[in-house]
Formats: sequence, structure tokens, C-alpha cells
Amino acid sequence: ENQYKHSEQKTRDLEVTKLELEERTKQLQLTSKYKTEFLANISHELRTPLNSLLILAQILLENKENNLTEKQKEYANTIHAAGKDLLNLINDILDLAKIESGKIHIKRNEMEIGDMVSFITNQFEPLASRKNIEFKVEVASNIPGFVYTDTQKVYQILKNLLSNAIKFTVKGKVRVFVKRIIHQQGDYIAFVVADTGIGISKQNQELIFEAFQQVDGTTSRQFGGTGLGLSISKELAGLLSGFITVESAEGKGSTFTFYLPVKSEAEVISTYPNVEF
Ligand code: ADP
Repeated sequence: ENQYKHSEQKTRDLEVTKLELEERTKQLQLTSKYKTEFLANISHELRTPLNSLLILAQILLENKENNLTEKQKEYANTIHAAGKDLLNLINDILDLAKIESGKIHIKRNEMEIGDMVSFITNQFEPLASRKNIEFKVEVASNIPGFVYTDTQKVYQILKNLLSNAIKFTVKGKVRVFVKRIIHQQGDYIAFVVADTGIGISKQNQELIFEAFQQVDGTTSRQFGGTGLGLSISKELAGLLSGFITVESAEGKGSTFTFYLPVKSEAEVISTYPNVEF
């Protein structure tokens, strides 16, 4: 009988713990919701004055009257550059807050892979060449012409991986391979971005996909950035049913791969029959 009482007590204790946990989870969800709303609001409010500041700095830089001294031009330049950094940070925070609160909408359309490849080549080749970095894009022949996905989000992810590759490479190469990878988990297009830059230690490879994580120390600090790009990219890749992997060796370089599922419009619609795209 004693044993019976004991186990009854245990069940009751467990029920109390369960209720406490549920209550705690609810509280945490609410706090997280407030945090997200606060970040979204503050980011929005900060953007308006910052945009005026940027426009005015731009007018000074254009200097139509041609009446600024060299020092004044230099100051206008610094104001403009700092303003842009701040705007990037605010936009990143806003993006992350939107993703966390489920407010980012996926708008699928037919993305032509060839167009995406030319677009990124045209945009990043000049940036690489300015740093004397060799830039090359190779596309495998078995790539489908189209995938049904959110083109703008794919672009945002690739832009982040490529700007990091160029940013963290002092000299050497940045290569992009576009391949098709078919395995048990699915049929993917892999966008492989490989650089011969500073590399990332094993320990840091686990941290860089977390918000605000930058590899510490002077080397990476000197490159600037918000520390949010990879967390945004990881979340966006997930929303597109894809994922990102990293392989890297310190001092040798890094390879980031973005796996995007190859899906036709019919497949996407049959997977999510009740969602409007
Ligand atoms: P940001 O580049 O704005 O700092 P990210 O989230 O894009 O933020 O990257 C986080 C950190 O990961 C970077 O600060 C850097 O330390 C490291 N990192 C990302 N990409 C590379 C790369 N290609 N080579 C070396 N380090 C990288």
C-alpha cells in the first residue's frame, strides 16, 4: 500500500512539474514575442531619421556648388559610410525580428538559375577585382533551367555568402560552383562558395550561425559587418526547405554550401495544398 501511495504522489508531482513547465513556456513565448515586436518597432523608427541623414550626406558629397574643402568632403564621406553601416545593421535586425516572429513571407516564383548566376557574377566580379581576388563561377551541365522558389531570398543568401567570401579573403580566389546533388534526403541545387581567405576554427564554425556572433580578435573586426548575415541566411534557407553547411580551415579558407531543393511548381503545390503562393 505504501508503495502505491508513493507512486500516486510521484504522479501528482509530475503533473505539477508539467503545469509549471507549460506556464514557463507560455511566459517565454510571450517575452520573445515582446522582444521581437520591440525590435521591429525600434528598427522602423530608427530608419526614418537615418535616411534623412544619409540623403543630406549624399548631397554634401555631390557638392554641386563645389565649395567644400578636402577636410569637409572627408567628413561627409565618413558620415555617409557610418550611416550606411548603421542602416545595414538596422535592416538586418529588422529582418531577423521578422523571421523570428514568422512575419517573413515566402513568395515563390520560377527562378531561372542562369539569370541568378549572371546576376551574382555581374555584381561580385567587380568587387573581387578591386581587391585583386580571382573570381570564377562554374555551373554544372545537369542543372535544371528553373526552380520554383523565392528568388529574392535566394539572392539575399548568396549575396551574404559571397560578400563574406570576398570580405574575409585578402588575396587569392573566390570560386562559386553550382551543382546538382541528388541523395536520399532529396534533390538539391548546391551553391558552393569557396574562398582562400582567413578561415574559421572548428570551435567558431559552430557559433557563426548564431545572431551577433563574429569571430573575435582583430582580424575579423577589421573587416566590419553586423554578425547577423549568417543567422539570417540560415533562417531563410530553412524557410526555403534548404540548409547551409560550412567547411573551413584556419589560414586556408572556407567553403559555404547552400543547398536549395529542386522543386517544380506542381510539387510545391502538392506539398502545401492549403497555402497560397
Ligand atoms: P558579418 O560578416 O556581418 O560579421 P556574418 O553573420 O555574415 O556577419 O558572419 C559571422 C562571422 O563569421 C564573421 O564575422 C566572420 O568572423 C565569420 N565568417 C563568415 N564568413 C566567413 C568567411 N568566408 N571566411 C572567414 N570567416 C567568415
